[in-house]
Amino acid sequence: MIPQEFEYSAPTSLEEALHLISDGSAKVLAGGLSLIPLMKLRLAAPGHVVDLGRVPGLSYIREEGGKLHIGAMTTHYQIESSALVHSRCPLLAETAAHIGDVQVRNAGTIGGSVAHADPAADYPAALLALDAQVRLVTASGERTLPIQDFLVDTLTTALEPGELVAEVIVDVDVDGATGFCYQKMAHAASGFAIVGAAVRVRRSNGRVSFSRVGITGLAPKAFRATGVESLLQTPDDVASAAGAVADGIEANSDLAASAEYRCQMARVYTARALRQALARIA
Ligand SMILES: Cc1cc2nc3c(=O)[nH]c(=O)nc-3n(C[C@H](O)[C@H](O)[C@H](O)COP(=O)(O)OP(=O)(O)OC[C@H]3O[C@@H](n4cnc5c(N)ncnc54)[C@H](O)[C@@H]3O)c2cc1C
Repeated sequence: MIPQEFEYSAPTSLEEALHLISDGSAKVLAGGLSLIPLMKLRLAAPGHVVDLGRVPGLSYIREEGGKLHIGAMTTHYQIESSALVHSRCPLLAETAAHIGDVQVRNAGTIGGSVAHADPAADYPAALLALDAQVRLVTASGERTLPIQDFLVDTLTTALEPGELVAEVIVDVDVDGATGFCYQKMAHAASGFAIVGAAVRVRRSNGRVSFSRVGITGLAPKAFRATGVESLLQTPDDVASAAGAVADGIEANSDLAASAEYRCQMARVYTARALRQALARIA
């Protein structure tokens, strides 16, 4: 199908881009992998599309103040293949490698993925496990939100009209001290997560001293499985802790997987991710 007619702008500076979106009526275009299909299906019909492709300074990965800062236009492939991400935040590199295929990873961006807030997207699980923050900018200022506050519902975020995702900020893990793992049951056709579990764990004196578990695909939005985290006191608790992942969750149900099946797969994949993460601690 052909999208409805729209005005197209390709700004060459961030200031120009922010000015163009400041009245809240334009949609920004990043990799276009989610927006263009929606426009072709006429599920989205923006009157004005502002392409970020020529805006400099939105694609970077750098370490600052003990965190990794990743520019919104950084592609999944750049994250997957970055030596810095591999050494400082390997969970994110592992998660990026699970997204779609190489063409998708070459075009899709982390900013577009989080702004789109697909309930089956991979990054949100990892970003929850990484205590990520999302920095948002407007023509007149900026604010930073924790990822759990940024993700509001299916395809809905806390982005206000005129706001742009500028960067995603994640925790850095000192080499080897933190175990990590992303495990995903992928939809056979699309590759999106039927369920996905992202885990970070640390151990001390035989006990689990720190854990973060982010879950995608199971519910209308990705969430942190705090029940699993609190039940995981020692490595022997993996099965019982993972068994609680769907407790109190209203699970998604669709042609790919019923709610009951999704819940069971979430338990299985969370247990696998926990075991692998614990086994990876140096
Ligand atoms: C065949 C296929 C397979 C896929 N498989 C997977 C998969 O397995 N796992 C997965 O997680 N994803 C998958 N995706 C989605 C992919 O990861 C996209 O990259 C992502 O959903 C959107 O990123 P984008 O850069 O293309 O954004 P776009 O499509 O350009 O934009 C998406 C939305 O975000 C908004 N937006 C974009 N950038 C910003 C910004 N900086 N600030 C504010 N708003 C912004 C746009 O206005 C739009 O509403 C797949 C996509 C395709 C086409």
